[in-house]
Amino acid sequence: MPTSTTAAVVETGGAKFTVSTVDLDEPRSDEILVRLVAAGLCHTDLGVASGALPFPLPGVLGHEGAGIVEKVGAGVTTVDVGDHVLLSFSSCGSCGNCRDGHPAYCATWLPLNLIGGGRADGTSPVSRGGEAIGGHFFGQSSFAHHAVVDARSAVKVDPDAPLDILAPLGCGVQTGVGAVWNVLKPCPGQTVLVTGAGAVGLSAVMAAALTPASKVIVVDRVPARLELARDLGATQVINAAEVDTAEELRSPAH
Ligand SMILES: [Zn+2]
Ligand SMILES: [Zn+2]
Repeated sequence: MPTSTTAAVVETGGAKFTVSTVDLDEPRSDEILVRLVAAGLCHTDLGVASGALPFPLPGVLGHEGAGIVEKVGAGVTTVDVGDHVLLSFSSCGSCGNCRDGHPAYCATWLPLNLIGGGRADGTSPVSRGGEAIGGHFFGQSSFAHHAVVDARSAVKVDPDAPLDILAPLGCGVQTGVGAVWNVLKPCPGQTVLVTGAGAVGLSAVMAAALTPASKVIVVDRVPARLELARDLGATQVINAAEVDTAEELRSPAH
């Protein structure tokens, strides 16, 4: 029996999110049904909704979901009914990069997450009026009350953890933190420059503040964001609306 749920559907590129009833497949062997409690909004959702990325529409977006597991497929061993989970991107689990512990570089990452609109076999777990619509966005399509989620997208968290605060860990936070901790790995004395103090940039600031980097410089055009960046660990901030960023960076003060 399909599960009926309410989702924010984007009908065509450039259209607004519209609340609509959709049907979800029963979770397959490697899938779970999650009741969403919260979902972050990432610029990638807006990029797809605007029609700038080739995701099949109408469809359901959302890729920073957080919720509670209501059903698990027969083959799922990582989470149980009642577990609190954060949802992130999906991956195949069997290509070289997945086996080496780098699922973000999965060989089938793009079709599985961003542009396919369905599972690896091309089917979507979301339908409306008997017609399949775009789903499985980042393995989840979490702008809905419920989602059929690839079990590889779900990470179990402490049931006391506040899901509404943790939801953006699924994309924005790990992108900013991962860039600093896993790729840049700043050494003592080095300077980290973060351009743009949104969710990703501010996460990078928090991560950089926990490294031996001597300076964390943040550039943005919004004073409130720069103020927040300071609270989160920026040692210097530059308001690009007021000064020339390149000149400012070359000045002896930096
Ligand atoms: Zn994102
Ligand atoms: Zn893979």
